Amino acid sequence: MRPSHAAWLALPVALLSSLVAAVPSPAAYQDQQAFAAPALPERSRWRTLSGRLIGSIWGVPKADIGNAAKILKTNAQAPPHTLARYGGDVVLRFNISTAEEAKGLAEAADTLLLDVWEFSQDWVDIRLSKDIVGPLLGLLPASLQQAHTPLLRERELAQAIYDTYPSPRGSSARSHEPAHTPSPLRDRPFGPALQQNDGETNIFFTNYQPLSVIDPWMRLMASLFTTHVRKVDIGVSYQGRDIPGLRVGVHPTNGDEPNPPKRKTVLLMGGLHAREWISTSTVNYVAYSLITGYGRIPSITRLLEDFDFVFVPTVNPDGYVYTWETDRLWRKNRQQTNFRFCQGIDLDRAFGFQWDGAVTTAGNPCSESFAGEEAFEAVESKRLADWAKNETENNNVEFVGLLDLHSYSQQILYPYSYSCDDTPPGLENLEELAIGVQRAIRIAHGHSYEVLPACEGNAATTKQSKQRLWPRMEASGGSALDWFYHELKVRYAYQLKLRDRGMYGFLLPKENIVPTGKEILDAVLYFGGFLSESYGLSSAAAEGVESENSEPHVQDVAEVQEAIPAAVEEQDEVEDDWVWVEDIDIDIDPEGVQWELKRGRRR
Ligand SMILES: [Zn+2]
Repeated sequence: MRPSHAAWLALPVALLSSLVAAVPSPAAYQDQQAFAAPALPERSRWRTLSGRLIGSIWGVPKADIGNAAKILKTNAQAPPHTLARYGGDVVLRFNISTAEEAKGLAEAADTLLLDVWEFSQDWVDIRLSKDIVGPLLGLLPASLQQAHTPLLRERELAQAIYDTYPSPRGSSARSHEPAHTPSPLRDRPFGPALQQNDGETNIFFTNYQPLSVIDPWMRLMASLFTTHVRKVDIGVSYQGRDIPGLRVGVHPTNGDEPNPPKRKTVLLMGGLHAREWISTSTVNYVAYSLITGYGRIPSITRLLEDFDFVFVPTVNPDGYVYTWETDRLWRKNRQQTNFRFCQGIDLDRAFGFQWDGAVTTAGNPCSESFAGEEAFEAVESKRLADWAKNETENNNVEFVGLLDLHSYSQQILYPYSYSCDDTPPGLENLEELAIGVQRAIRIAHGHSYEVLPACEGNAATTKQSKQRLWPRMEASGGSALDWFYHELKVRYAYQLKLRDRGMYGFLLPKENIVPTGKEILDAVLYFGGFLSESYGLSSAAAEGVESENSEPHVQDVAEVQEAIPAAVEEQDEVEDDWVWVEDIDIDIDPEGVQWELKRGRRR
């Protein structure tokens, strides 16, 4: 929990001193004219700003939100205090065109521990209280004073937060079961869609779902589809929750041979960052599609004969629950740090390859990208790494692919994250597959994703020379991507940043769940086809060897889409979307389901 207002009042000295200590001395800025503020010495200006920022960093409710509650369409499903916490905040996009601007923003973000939402070569999105926008601009290079636009204005942020929670029961004709409270199986949001195809969409994917629904949903998948789905436990989180996973595959050879070949496995995970809900829903969407497509869609059946897929939708379950119950914009896990008032470690900075928490701002517990005191201090990162290692050492598994889903900005990032100076072995293959995935998404859905090395996703560079000129917006060592690629030797490892490009950012409206799911399903089918081909497995053999310039998997994608009744694209038509298991009655004997699926299997 964040400290109450009373606790804040009682402890201003500790808080202020930590912030002020983080403020560079005037000497550090002597040669940075852009930072010079004519009226006040810099130090006192920073300090003034620091005081104002305390409220936004520690989530102290703001007093002047006025009648905003009456203006906003609030949502009872959202955490209490949402409006108090975020009602006066805005999200600004700063457009960067010079190194000086990038440097100024990076230093402001570091010093003031700003909540940097996302950044690219050309822009940086930052959430901050509207009260500090003016003073902050006064400290930035003059050229930035005009070069920013609001992505979410005051109160729009709070409204967007409310809108990501399921609508309360009966509040609209399109609303469905509220997802908060687990109820008997029949009433669960994923129940009805499994039973019938009456034109309604699969209700599970019309809303973002809390862990209390996702977990039983995963158990249901495992109990319904026993031929090819197993529930797996990755480990236990800091607060004692299971990190749930589903292993999907048919093991055609294991068990038949004394020394079966290692089972080639693709890991698809989401929710390392708690607030990136679209990553969690997309992992579930792809899981559901492969699970229910098996035995019905030849390309999926072949894929699951060639590979196991492990789906982990919430690597950070404590953080995810916290975003549902307390703070929608929480990013890190919920681990206690050595600074009592700042909790949480950034799971994606906590892995043991090129961990850099000791030498970057990721060493500050109050930073959104705090990397911990040492590598793998973050419990969930450690559990995931231990589980993956154990799979490879003791369970006959070879991880050949990783797709680590995040949001936002529509990017396909490949190793390395920690540095652009280190070239990954197999760079050509990594790039080739990334470009193929990019094309598969574009052809099927018209959405463009950018392909970049992850280090460039983390640090602006000059476009012409590829030389890193601008400072990093945040630390970039200790990433899951780099660890899996380098330590676990996962040949095809990527981080995918999903929709959108900044209109809603982390608060992507729920109408995007299905379209984003489809987009990434296509990406996964292409990915799987490429891997089959590259490992000389059955999918590739069945389809023949494609020439380099063909569109080898478009046919698969079309095949999948054909199997989708009333396949529709964008937001307004989600209600009419598809259900793959429309004719599987949830009440029928599970043996019957198995038989149906077995009958559909290729021999
Ligand atoms: Zn993320």
